[in-house]
Amino acid sequence: MNKKFLIFANPDEVSVKITNEVTFKMEAIGWSRTEDDSSADLIFCIGGDGALLRLLRRYSFPETPIVGINTGHLGFFQEISVDGIDEFIELFKKGDYHIQEYIGLSAEIHTEDEVKSYVAINEIVVRGEGERLIHLDIKIGDKNIARYSGDGVLVCTPAGSTAYNYSLGGVIVDPNVDMLQITPIAPVNNIAYRSITSGIIVPTQTSIELVPVNNEGKKIAVIEDGAIVADGDIKRIVIHVADKKARIVRFRDYSFWGKVKDKIIG
Ligand code: NAP
Repeated sequence: MNKKFLIFANPDEVSVKITNEVTFKMEAIGWSRTEDDSSADLIFCIGGDGALLRLLRRYSFPETPIVGINTGHLGFFQEISVDGIDEFIELFKKGDYHIQEYIGLSAEIHTEDEVKSYVAINEIVVRGEGERLIHLDIKIGDKNIARYSGDGVLVCTPAGSTAYNYSLGGVIVDPNVDMLQITPIAPVNNIAYRSITSGIIVPTQTSIELVPVNNEGKKIAVIEDGAIVADGDIKRIVIHVADKKARIVRFRDYSFWGKVKDKIIG
């Protein structure tokens, strides 16, 4: 039976051109294009990391492997450049690739009436709306370890460690390390409010709970990979590793630390 591919692309001119080129070249080797993610054997993500984040949200972390073609953005997750399509097809036909799995991060958001769950690949951020100072209790497992006051708290996966976390002074983590990182966002530490000011690293089996306290009149927002998924009167947010993973096609010469050198350190 012939194999099928799906294309998820940014709408800009370069991404549209690459979409046409990929379609032509994949059809030439006998694959057919589909819009149905459940029947696709491979998903092309044409754009930057932002496109990958939207793809994962749209298709709820598909089981199907994803290959990223970077069309002019940072492209930290993306595997191939626009001039590497022929080489990709050759290596892919030969089976000369592997699938790298990235853990998803689940946030269960509890309000007065309901519990909603979301999955992120980079991070979950809990922060005050309108730049308000907020207060949260941080629970790790069943231990209430610290009261935190500041702009908010970020919890990220190793894959997300190079994104917002890095801008906040969090550490860069190799995705082969099984851990979650909790990073404070502008913590207040004075005689009025005591906050933990360093990051915290926990094993992936850990459940992290953020409980808003004493935030009268202030709204709390929960942001998953850059998208606000909840705001308002949130009682608690429980964060843990999700049962979903992102599956990304990687070639033999892929190196996470090579990406860090090329895309971050420069
Ligand atoms: P966005 O414009 O889609 O992305 C912001 C930048 O982050 C883009 O350059 C994007 O790469 C890059 N990026 C995304 N995931 C990355 C990763 N795992 N490692 C390294 N760089 C990564 O912004 P958005 O829609 O608001 O949010 C998407 C992501 O942006 C969030 O998950 C968050 O991590 C990050 N963000 C960063 C800051 C900050 O650094 N101060 C603030 C807010 C959000 P591309 O150019 O290839 O898309």
